[in-house]
Amino acid sequence: MDPVARYLELRDRIDSEAARLTALHGADITCRAGCTSCCVNLSVFSVEFHAILREMEHDGVKPEGIAFDTAATCGFLHDGLCRIYRYRPLICRTHGLPILYLDDEGDTPEWRVSFCELNFTGEGPVEFSDETLLDIEEMNAELYHINRDFVASLHGKNYHEQARIPLQELCKKPEE
Ligand code: SF4
Repeated sequence: MDPVARYLELRDRIDSEAARLTALHGADITCRAGCTSCCVNLSVFSVEFHAILREMEHDGVKPEGIAFDTAATCGFLHDGLCRIYRYRPLICRTHGLPILYLDDEGDTPEWRVSFCELNFTGEGPVEFSDETLLDIEEMNAELYHINRDFVASLHGKNYHEQARIPLQELCKKPEE
């Protein structure tokens, strides 16, 4: 399958998993329109950048017409809402959810759980299991492989599989 189609299929799965976890955790997750506490400027892999751009073009959206706010924590924010919400990257779709990640800062890597501090604010420690977490390492590994195949399909056209593109570049005027 075309790497961009694989990216979109992964995105659908992440959306489904995010919806499942949001329903499962109920009132412990307070994420809502207007809360921007997870929003920061991002860079994305080439495949994600191209998939977003391609989808915008398909929908007749001109990203170069979007005013990027350099004073905001993420320049795509406007009045507390994301201007590219429908097209937002995978990581934005996991904002606020409890995620399982591998912490490799110390001498020995350790699995840890992270979530937005505005969520799970009830009394007592929260117990999580594989069923109640999103494995972010699994998502990132799949995205990495899709991106590697995407970059290979470009036959050396200026991209590297490790390279990340600032999302802000969506707003650049296309070259004449
Ligand atoms: S792209 Fe949208 S959802 Fe993602 S960090 Fe920026 S404003 Fe937030």
